[in-house]
Amino acid sequence: MANLRIRFDRISKSYGNLRVVDDLSLDIAEGEFVSLLGPSGSGKTTLLMMLAGFEQPSSGAILIDGQPINDLPAHRRDMGVVFQSYALFPHMTVAENVAFPLQMRGTGRAEIRERVARVLDMVQLQTLSDRRPAQLSGGQQQRVALARALVFEPRVVLMDEPLGALDKQLREQMQLDIRALHNRLGLTIVFVTHDQSEALTMSDRIAVFNRGRIAQIGSPRAIYDEPRSRFVAEFIGETNLVEGTVEAAGATEARIALAAGGHVM
Ligand code: ADP
Repeated sequence: MANLRIRFDRISKSYGNLRVVDDLSLDIAEGEFVSLLGPSGSGKTTLLMMLAGFEQPSSGAILIDGQPINDLPAHRRDMGVVFQSYALFPHMTVAENVAFPLQMRGTGRAEIRERVARVLDMVQLQTLSDRRPAQLSGGQQQRVALARALVFEPRVVLMDEPLGALDKQLREQMQLDIRALHNRLGLTIVFVTHDQSEALTMSDRIAVFNRGRIAQIGSPRAIYDEPRSRFVAEFIGETNLVEGTVEAAGATEARIALAAGGHVM
């Protein structure tokens, strides 16, 4: 594996008697796009919350660059987070929303201005910087949330169903945009979804979750072509995949390359 960035080492998490993550180990390399895919309630969000530091494992260790996460102060964890509910501040403009994490860190005004402009450009919101969230479409609001997560240039971005609230067309556009940003910035992305085709399209590797464990992990093609259990076969099979969707993922890569080269992002 290329440079190891994140290690989940035999992580378990229980709420009362309910074990929601069960002795799970997972290594994620620097620059990898890994999707946590599985049915609702299989422990994906809980694992992400532990990585973000919002929840503590009941047992096991999470390491970032070899260091236990608990030894790292929040700003050293170097992670941006994007959730389905964008949680934008309604009374602030787009630019103010995006600037917020930098203000919290005490970044100087000139640097804030520069970074906000750069990141709004990246997500194609430069012309909307003075609007308030209520004046934006769902897709635009999600771009603001993405910009806010990227503004302090984290190397790792955690996303929890970030596109779930968007309609199909916007979702597909955002899938391309996120993948292009990943490629361009060399981001490590951990992406939670219950949408099989989304995971197949976007990821370098997919970890298929079943009841707090990883039922299978591998490339989209391996998961799609060689499911190792009936659970994985049925879960992947449940999607509305038309035949050749994994082929389509190749086409997606081509479109992304075009988009990135053409400065669409
Ligand atoms: P997923 O993201 O795969 O849908 P979650 O990680 O959100 O799954 O949830 C896994 C299980 O843990 C679910 O049964 C959920 O109800 C339970 N759970 C999650 N958070 C809490 C909590 N704070 N207290 C009690 N149970 C929880």
